[in-house]
Amino acid sequence: MRFSILTLFPEYFQSALSSSILGRAHTSGLLTTDFVNLRDFGEGKYRAVDDKPYGGGAGMLLMPTVLERALSHLLSGPERLDQLEADVAAFKSDPSREAGTIPHVVYLSPQGRRLDAAAARRLSRYQYLILLCGHYEGVDERAVDSFVHEEVSLGDYILTGGEPAAVVLVDAIARFVPGVVGEMSSVQSDTFEADAPDMVSGGLKFPMYTRPAEWRGRAVPDVLLSGNHAEIAKWRKGQSEARTAVRRPDLSAIKPKA
Ligand code: SAM
Repeated sequence: MRFSILTLFPEYFQSALSSSILGRAHTSGLLTTDFVNLRDFGEGKYRAVDDKPYGGGAGMLLMPTVLERALSHLLSGPERLDQLEADVAAFKSDPSREAGTIPHVVYLSPQGRRLDAAAARRLSRYQYLILLCGHYEGVDERAVDSFVHEEVSLGDYILTGGEPAAVVLVDAIARFVPGVVGEMSSVQSDTFEADAPDMVSGGLKFPMYTRPAEWRGRAVPDVLLSGNHAEIAKWRKGQSEARTAVRRPDLSAIKPKA
């Protein structure tokens, strides 16, 4: 799977995407990530990328012309940009359609749909995602209308820029790309998974323990040392249900898959 990240700060991503599981996935070629520095497509001697909003108010906005030039460069030509614009319009009128061959553009934005496991799984089905990181006040709305398939938010708070959100999005998506996490079964048995064993569907995972069996006066629950798999499964399911009901009652409403 390929990611292209449009940013003013490519250096931000250096260690985040080259460490641990994501680092190995890049080395093995399961993931490729390239960067477009928006500054390279700025205007004039100082390569200006943003300007004041019409109508007044604080802050600066990324100019639509900058995004247009950056995408045209990335897609190798203005005709491809026209195709992208048509694809964006088609997606907006039918967001449920199958992922096609045109790159899918995501703008990291606090005004987007909040990222969850289902969205990460859905986005992992695209071969090629282009991620746009905003800064300052954000991006001229016409550029979003023309070239952005969807906006994704990390949560109801404001970051100073889209870069941390892009790292989180790449990480959350990458886990669903086959081969990135050694054992797919471990991905499928995590919190929020609909068909995870010994868990309430779509809920929180049960508590887990490792050696030593006793630590600072706290013992691992006996059942986990019993070797009785049926009892362990029952205990885990009960813990998952209780924990989900207390901590995330909103998730308890999720029904098991038919
Ligand atoms: N003026 C914008 C507003 O009120 O909606 C906020 C702009 S924010 C300071 C600058 C950039 O950070 C945004 O363009 C976006 O790329 C990123 N950003 C901020 N909060 C985010 C969030 N919760 N999720 C994803 N990206 C976010």
